[in-house]
Amino acid sequence: MKRTQISLYDTTLRDGEQSPGAALTVSQKVEIALEIESLGVDVIEAGFPIASATDFEAVQKISARIKNSTVCGFARAKKEDIDAVYHATKEAKKKRLIIVFPTSNMHLEVKMGIDKNQAIRLLNEMLTYSKPLFKEIEIITEDGTRSEIDFLVKIATECCLHGISHFTIADTVGFATPEEIKNIFSALVKLESSYPIVLGIHCHNDLGLATINSLTALKYGARQVHLTINGIGERAGNTSLEEIVMNCYLHGHHFPYQHNLNLNRIWATSQLVAKFTGIEIPVNKAIIGKNTFSHGSGIHLDGMMKNTSMYEIFSSDLIGAPKSNYPITRHSGKSGLKLKLNELGIELNDKKFSSLIERIKSYYSEKIISDTLLIEMIKDL
Ligand code: MN
Repeated sequence: MKRTQISLYDTTLRDGEQSPGAALTVSQKVEIALEIESLGVDVIEAGFPIASATDFEAVQKISARIKNSTVCGFARAKKEDIDAVYHATKEAKKKRLIIVFPTSNMHLEVKMGIDKNQAIRLLNEMLTYSKPLFKEIEIITEDGTRSEIDFLVKIATECCLHGISHFTIADTVGFATPEEIKNIFSALVKLESSYPIVLGIHCHNDLGLATINSLTALKYGARQVHLTINGIGERAGNTSLEEIVMNCYLHGHHFPYQHNLNLNRIWATSQLVAKFTGIEIPVNKAIIGKNTFSHGSGIHLDGMMKNTSMYEIFSSDLIGAPKSNYPITRHSGKSGLKLKLNELGIELNDKKFSSLIERIKSYYSEKIISDTLLIEMIKDL
């Protein structure tokens, strides 16, 4: 089947790091950036250089170390922000400026205190200023999904006329539905036939729709998707990189998009980001949660012993995760226990096996019965 090439844009180091308590040191940022590059993402948003001296230094060091991915620096529609990105990304082999630009009435009127005409003038001024400094420029529409579609088209058209390379719609507060995303991209996609602009999507997960909203944007013309490792980011987080790429992998007919990601590095990258940011991965998180390859109930274990694809839609090796495990709980049943005893090299006669089952079933004090505890129980039979 023919797949459409898309670009994966990682914002773990900017939007992800904006998660409360996730602040990273410069060396941690560099290490994550190098890991993300080996993972195979196309664009690494390295940070917001004007925000602090640490952010500036991190963007500078990442720019000097990254060889293959494009390094992107974040700016508001202010000349000093744009200058900071210019200086911080000087050494980058491939670089891009991203300017966040508010487009909803609320953001324009309440936050910026300007009307739509003034917004267009400000945009033109910023693009005229940035164009000689950067070959690649991306505009990201803050609160884009709560903006009037006609105004988004107007802003995007201005960007096209300035020869801007990328235009991204942000669902800043995670409030959009797939239907709304479809309507916005159906209006914007017409520009792609007249101008060399790449449309992008940036979603948040406040209502749990970040993944489907991002996939919907791709279906209706977006060719770049903003992502974070483990889905970290402001509030409920951003679209998870692992969820997007695994949906493309497993559901190629519905999501026929080609990218350059090495799936088998997903687990390692995810662990590194969790360790450095201190944001633990929920055990039931799609794809990279600890329970993805953990099976507790007897019925499931019996199925797994016959064919692992009965209860696992992909194997742990595919994403470089540790192999499936079968913790013993009150729900494990005979199949689970047999599997565990085999693993431990313990043989029991039928009588002892049945009494062990009874002991486990009446066990309430521990949710998971560790191997040590199980061996103690067997000695005591
Ligand atoms: Mn965001």
